[in-house]
Amino acid sequence: MWQLAGHSRATTLLQQSLRNGQLSHAYLFVGPAHVGKFTLAMNLAQAVNCDLENRPCQECTSCHRIAASKHPDFRVIDLLPEKAKSISIDQIRNMQTETHLPPYEGKYKVFVIDGAHLLSHEAANSILKILEEPPPNILIILLTTSESALLPTIASRCQRVELRPLPLGLVRDVLVKDHHLTQDKADLLARLSGGCLGCALLALQDKSLLSDREQRLANIAHLHEATTRDRLAYAADLAATFSKGRDKVSDALSEWLQWWRDLLLIKCGNTRWIMNIDQEPVLSKQAETLSAAGISVFMRVIGATTVQLEQNANPRLALEVLMLKMP
Ligand SMILES: [Zn+2]
Repeated sequence: MWQLAGHSRATTLLQQSLRNGQLSHAYLFVGPAHVGKFTLAMNLAQAVNCDLENRPCQECTSCHRIAASKHPDFRVIDLLPEKAKSISIDQIRNMQTETHLPPYEGKYKVFVIDGAHLLSHEAANSILKILEEPPPNILIILLTTSESALLPTIASRCQRVELRPLPLGLVRDVLVKDHHLTQDKADLLARLSGGCLGCALLALQDKSLLSDREQRLANIAHLHEATTRDRLAYAADLAATFSKGRDKVSDALSEWLQWWRDLLLIKCGNTRWIMNIDQEPVLSKQAETLSAAGISVFMRVIGATTVQLEQNANPRLALEVLMLKMP
């Protein structure tokens, strides 16, 4: 009754540890965003507190309450919206106090730290103290997309479980079977998800994600034929978003790179592997006007721009140069 599609290696490992009574007191789930880390953590919390034999049963009161985040022994610690940059020492102090109390109604108190790489320096040291002398009946599950940003002393005290992106065919099958999507729609979402099923499910819930993407791609396609003035105006708009959030610009550049990678694939006759499969007619038309060498050079320029922005180059200048170098 693990609710995770795929990831059988991880679920088998945890199932065996449960069966043999060899559960670690702390786990570190590593993997890209939306790959399934939180679902796995929730299922493990259900399994250790489940009232029935086939754990996690998904039927008992305890399993239901954990799934609804209404179980007093299941705590999720993540970024507070108003303190967006790190998980604070106060949040971990509250957790520390709770670790010294016995479970209220379950067998284990489970703490999930969603975004362990976002722990502040003090918060990380505080977690380390808990991990060094873990109180009984406590299970701590750290989730991270960025393992290298964790203190090595924290990582070494946890059992590491890695979740890798799923094969796209598996994501597609889940979308068709469990969410009743057409093959074409499922195929598109599977490709865009990059094997992280949660990304595809988010796009199903929030229709604006796909419509916004279509708008952005229309801009990318249009700029190829646009005047220098329009290109520079686009660079200025994108640079203005940089100060509000670097991620938006880095996501935009990933989309640019993906678009131009698709152009190169079409140019080389490999349409099967393109990501923006719903845009194939537009891509094919654009590819006719370009050479493979020209596409490759521009892809390198996009990569270089991404690196420059990471190294704090002036965003407007870097993006303007990118626009001017577009074939
Ligand atoms: Zn149960």
